[in-house]
Amino acid sequence: MAGNVQFKVEKNRVLVPVGQACRFGCKYCYTRKGEVGPSKVDAEEILRQFEEFMRTHAFETIQFGYDGDPFDRPERGAMMLQRLARLRKNISFSTKALLDNALLNVLVDIHDGMLQDGNTLVAFISLSCWDSARLVEPHTPTAQERVANIENLKRRNIPTYIALRPILPGIRDREYEQLAQAGIDAGCGGFVLGPLYADEGGQFVRFIPTEILTQTPHRQVIVPWSAHAPTWRRYEDEARLHRIASMIERKGGKVFLSSVDAIEFAHEKRKVDDRGRIKMPALTCASPETPFKA
Ligand code: SF4
Repeated sequence: MAGNVQFKVEKNRVLVPVGQACRFGCKYCYTRKGEVGPSKVDAEEILRQFEEFMRTHAFETIQFGYDGDPFDRPERGAMMLQRLARLRKNISFSTKALLDNALLNVLVDIHDGMLQDGNTLVAFISLSCWDSARLVEPHTPTAQERVANIENLKRRNIPTYIALRPILPGIRDREYEQLAQAGIDAGCGGFVLGPLYADEGGQFVRFIPTEILTQTPHRQVIVPWSAHAPTWRRYEDEARLHRIASMIERKGGKVFLSSVDAIEFAHEKRKVDDRGRIKMPALTCASPETPFKA
């Protein structure tokens, strides 16, 4: 089943779908109507079409799983990620799933292989709120379990960031403070903040009280990152966005307004770290008896 899979280069990256409906059922989920891609496509067919697309398009980064959570069904996500890793690009994935040891081991293998090729694997752990998660994201692992994912990935040296999006109207700022502190304590590399989208009928935002929604600044946009280009309403309170960004920075966290920026940052950081690792033995060998002087 080929389905209507589409790809597009935007900001030097291409989004690759999982191709299967996600069962986590977050209330703000924009994937459920199929406007950003069909919900049932054979994984091999997606990979085949993507490789064909790659032959005629230049880009640096693959972002896997914008149409569903890649690890809702971990075997499928792991298989697709392994295959994408062979294509010699930077890759990111975003997930709310629990990453067990078996999956973490697969991610370590993928990460190590990509490092050999000079590419970077970036994990985005998705958290849009804290206490409210049990209402807004009722079928996902808890926020605390997702923070444990961050610790587990960091322990394995996989660059890991928090996708703090969508920023939800009506969620108290205190929840974002809890989330930011937990992420920083867990060692996340930074936070990607992002807007809330609603379709024409408001299906993705029905859980938000109307009076709160109408007061939230919004505008109609053609969604730039989607090859399917749906026209949706983008809710984004810039004053609140800056308030949350400042709060994170005061706590010592790094803020990005696009996941592409976070991936580029991780990739550059990795290159600098690698140069540092390469230099260390050379210094030691040049003068082995010389004590280190600051
Ligand atoms: S995890 Fe992502 S794809 Fe799955 S329901 Fe939630 S928002 Fe949608």
